[in-house]
Amino acid sequence: MARTAAVRPLSADEIKTTTCYMCACRCGIRVHLRDGAVRYIDGNPDHPLNQGVICAKGSSGIMKQYSPARLTRPLLRKQGAERGAGEFEPISWEQAFSLLAERLAKIRATDPKKFALFTGRDQMQALTGLFARQFGTPNYAAHGGFCSVNMATGMIYTIGGSFWEFGGPDLDRARLFVMLGTAEDHHSNPLKIAISKFKRAGGKFVSVNPVRTGYSAIADEWVPIRPGTDGALLLALVHEILALGLYDREFLVRYTNAGQLVNVDEASDRWGLLVRLPEVDEVNPQYPQNHAWWDRHTDRPVPTHARGADPFLLGAFRMADGTPVKPAFQLLEERVARYTPEWAERRSPAFRPRPSGASRTRWASPRATSASSCRSRGPTAGARSTSR
Ligand code: SF4
Repeated sequence: MARTAAVRPLSADEIKTTTCYMCACRCGIRVHLRDGAVRYIDGNPDHPLNQGVICAKGSSGIMKQYSPARLTRPLLRKQGAERGAGEFEPISWEQAFSLLAERLAKIRATDPKKFALFTGRDQMQALTGLFARQFGTPNYAAHGGFCSVNMATGMIYTIGGSFWEFGGPDLDRARLFVMLGTAEDHHSNPLKIAISKFKRAGGKFVSVNPVRTGYSAIADEWVPIRPGTDGALLLALVHEILALGLYDREFLVRYTNAGQLVNVDEASDRWGLLVRLPEVDEVNPQYPQNHAWWDRHTDRPVPTHARGADPFLLGAFRMADGTPVKPAFQLLEERVARYTPEWAERRSPAFRPRPSGASRTRWASPRATSASSCRSRGPTAGARSTSR
């Protein structure tokens, strides 16, 4: 009994739930406190996104509170010290505020745009942006690392918006998951949960990454890409998908601008712009609705998505006034024509194509090819002659 009484029953007397911000994933966490001090942090099992999973970086968030290395007072460069010499002296907050107010007042009174505000990664960007706008400068920015913003941008432009806490790849319905352009392990705990479920359900996971740690270590296939050649891989993949007719024509017609006609008259002021039909109401000048398809049934230009119309995705045409036009998809095909797998291989040997059949090249990974195959639907997706 004496021994039991000596054991402290709990390491914490209070637990606060909040979200982690050691990276942008915002996992739900529990902060365990004892006598008002943080003892440790773990994942919140009731949080809908991370469901209790926490990474090492998240659990080390305690150092934000207690690291002896953190800054606790404003620092001012020492009188006469060279910039970059690292010679500072601590000053009070009052001194710091009055120094800033004096400098900022001078800039605001002359040219507020000379004030550039850059903040690190924090939860305050809405407020710091508001401050900059009120000050009168458009020059404000915040942390946007190669580890995350590139991924967000790619996902927004391809699958319409997806970024950690706002969503993720639809692994519940996928059979193959290719991850590329992801900085080492910089992704959310929800994704780790999703990949685990995906693999248990038989999904194949391919990781394209120069190093084989983190996600690559648990991938079914690791493609050791040469750093900086992701673009070459993607261009060659697009080339192959088009060359083999592995695209989903119905999807392209319905949801993308693949069939929309582009002015290809280099002498025209509208060269490279989408053709607009003047006789059709543009509806919204910010987002005009009078773009054109070239209809396969009537062999003439029609408003996009006109009832009963079906656009050519490939080909070259002339408008009634003689303007040469092409569907956007045709321009894409021309653009990627030279980006063959052999071209990509010269940039990164990991992309070694290999012969499959008499005349086609395929990626070294048969799984990578099946990824594209499983996306094609119906007879029109497979044949060039019918997919035009
Ligand atoms: S992934 Fe890790 S660092 Fe990022 S929010 Fe979640 S626990 Fe924190």
